[in-house]
Amino acid sequence: MKPYKNKINRIRSFALALIFIGVVIMYIGIFFRSNEIVMLIFMFLGMLSIIASTVVYAWIGTLSTRAVKIQCPNCGKHTKMLGRVDMCGHCREPLTLDPDLEGKEFDVSYNKSKMPHEKSSK
Ligand SMILES: [Zn+2]
Repeated sequence: MKPYKNKINRIRSFALALIFIGVVIMYIGIFFRSNEIVMLIFMFLGMLSIIASTVVYAWIGTLSTRAVKIQCPNCGKHTKMLGRVDMCGHCREPLTLDPDLEGKEFDVSYNKSKMPHEKSSK
């Protein structure tokens, strides 16, 4: 229904999922205590997943420095956007830095799906 998400938020939830998966994999490994090699493989995979998530988190850090902090015209909150087009992290308002893209890109799907949001107007 909502295919678009703020890019930084999306990467952050991906990193969080990696930590979770890593912990689950390591937890599964505990059930194979009798088989040391299998347990070690699970532990290794779990560690790998957690290491990957820290790498992703570090990547978000570098991305955030390049991200532009702007005030969302829709909800008024501050959000960080990546690239030329991104979503507001709070209300998923499509945002663009490129005037040429204004009204394009997201409009096709958003003209329809934005209607229920109108209640937020005071
Ligand atoms: Zn917003």
